[in-house]
Amino acid sequence: MFPKKEHLNIGVVEFRQAVKPSNEKKNLQTNFMYYLQTLKQQKLLPTRLPKIATQGGAFPTCQMKRLTADRIMLCGDAGGLTNPMAGEGIFYAMCSGEMAAYTAIKALENQSTDKQSLRHYQRRWNQEFHGDFSMMHRLSKRWGRNIDHFIEVACKDKKLIDVICEAIPKPGGIQQDKWRILPRFVFDLCKNRILQ
Ligand SMILES: Cc1cc2nc3c(=O)[nH]c(=O)nc-3n(C[C@H](O)[C@H](O)[C@H](O)COP(=O)(O)OP(=O)(O)OC[C@H]3O[C@@H](n4cnc5c(N)ncnc54)[C@H](O)[C@@H]3O)c2cc1C
Repeated sequence: MFPKKEHLNIGVVEFRQAVKPSNEKKNLQTNFMYYLQTLKQQKLLPTRLPKIATQGGAFPTCQMKRLTADRIMLCGDAGGLTNPMAGEGIFYAMCSGEMAAYTAIKALENQSTDKQSLRHYQRRWNQEFHGDFSMMHRLSKRWGRNIDHFIEVACKDKKLIDVICEAIPKPGGIQQDKWRILPRFVFDLCKNRILQ
């Protein structure tokens, strides 16, 4: 939910990698209406809320195997570079755009824009983000499958949330901070179980 100056942007999202092909397809519009209803019941939204037409879109959360070809570099959504856990894509579009721009400058200086020369962009992207994206892609397959409990436990620990929020946008941040995140999370789970 994003508050704007004179309106609110409210949305729901579904991660395809988390959807079991055997399950019946969900209707996002129905889920959206249910979400609005829940927000109103919890008094987080006024009961009378003028609504305009719903809009939707797709964001790709699976990185293309190759981000470069002769005279081509794929950045942002074109390369499938949105965060596989959160769908956040603006930050990664800007990072990949910057990396591609540096590679393009070098390639033009060397007057060589074939795929070999542009591969530097893919190497830099992979170095900084590929490890985290692969891990998050695996985790994102669990969206919607009994992870509410884990989220509930994690939300009670402000320090843990801070560490995760710091790690996610940092290049290689999840890999770097996983030993700060995992033990703390396991500790929180145990504490929660003892207190129940
Ligand atoms: C509903 C929704 C909500 C989202 N919410 C968030 C969010 O809260 N935070 C976040 O970080 N990300 C969010 N995203 C993802 C984010 O919007 C994208 O990942 C990000 O904008 C990708 O940037 P991009 O530059 O790669 O592509 P785009 O922003 O799509 O830019 C591509 C541009 O190319 C233009 N174009 C296309 N074809 C041609 C052509 N043939 N010739 C010339 N121009 C062309 C398009 O018009 C467009 O302007 C959301 C996505 C959706 C769909």
